[in-house]
Amino acid sequence: MKIVVKVGTSTLAHATGRLNIRRIEMLCKVLSDLKNAGHEIILVSSGAIGMGVGKLGLTERPSDIPGKQAAAAVGQCELMYTYDKLFSEYNHNVAQILITAPDVKNPERKTNFHNTLERLLALSVLPVINENDTVSTEEIEIGDNDTLSAEVSASIGADLLVILSDIDGLYDKNPKNNPDAKLIPVVSEITEDIKALAGGSGSSLGTGGMITKIRAAEIATAAHCDMIIANGAEPEVLYDIVEGKSIGTRFLKR
Ligand code: ADP
Repeated sequence: MKIVVKVGTSTLAHATGRLNIRRIEMLCKVLSDLKNAGHEIILVSSGAIGMGVGKLGLTERPSDIPGKQAAAAVGQCELMYTYDKLFSEYNHNVAQILITAPDVKNPERKTNFHNTLERLLALSVLPVINENDTVSTEEIEIGDNDTLSAEVSASIGADLLVILSDIDGLYDKNPKNNPDAKLIPVVSEITEDIKALAGGSGSSLGTGGMITKIRAAEIATAAHCDMIIANGAEPEVLYDIVEGKSIGTRFLKR
């Protein structure tokens, strides 16, 4: 299978903003093992700003956009250094790809992106993709790479997009303030009712959250790619997902 895995800052960092070492080590180990089992893996990773904040010794995350961009530029090196080191332990090579969402829509750039990615996969390299925060602020402003990961999945014809989050999946209401919320295991059609579960269209824009994940599901499923939202707290969950077990919320491809 060709699998795109997207990890957010909530999976990669502790509440302090510093790197969650146990988590990233486990993620790299599981992804290496899935590659060894013959799957093609593409990682879409956030987390550059948090890494930059740590490296620069800042006491808090910058609040202005240029401050975040600068922290991301520093942190991206640290992030790739960490992935390179951890994947090397399992004899896998990584490649860094920094893009913006329009890059995968513009026909010429899309072809360039596609050709590079296909060659990297043919060379058995594990591409690590992030938004190019220096020239695009969509991720910084919206807070996540959900849409980008779906555009990437559509562009390269992935079989599955897995979005690892800090929550088990899509619930019938926000579980953070509704203890009786129930997990929805399968979504076969993204209706207005489903969009409303994420806080209504537009209302949570600016914070990421579920609305950007449902938007991602629309893009991925329209491109014949299933999408799963699962909890990234235990990256071993990826084994169960690949085995086809019912984990998190699966959005069925159209
Ligand atoms: P990540 O950083 O992993 O992308 P986000 O914080 O952006 O995660 O999105 C996940 C959050 O969305 C959950 O922790 C939860 O608070 C919120 N949320 C809002 N509505 C729902 C819902 N219906 N089901 C699940 N989570 C929801």
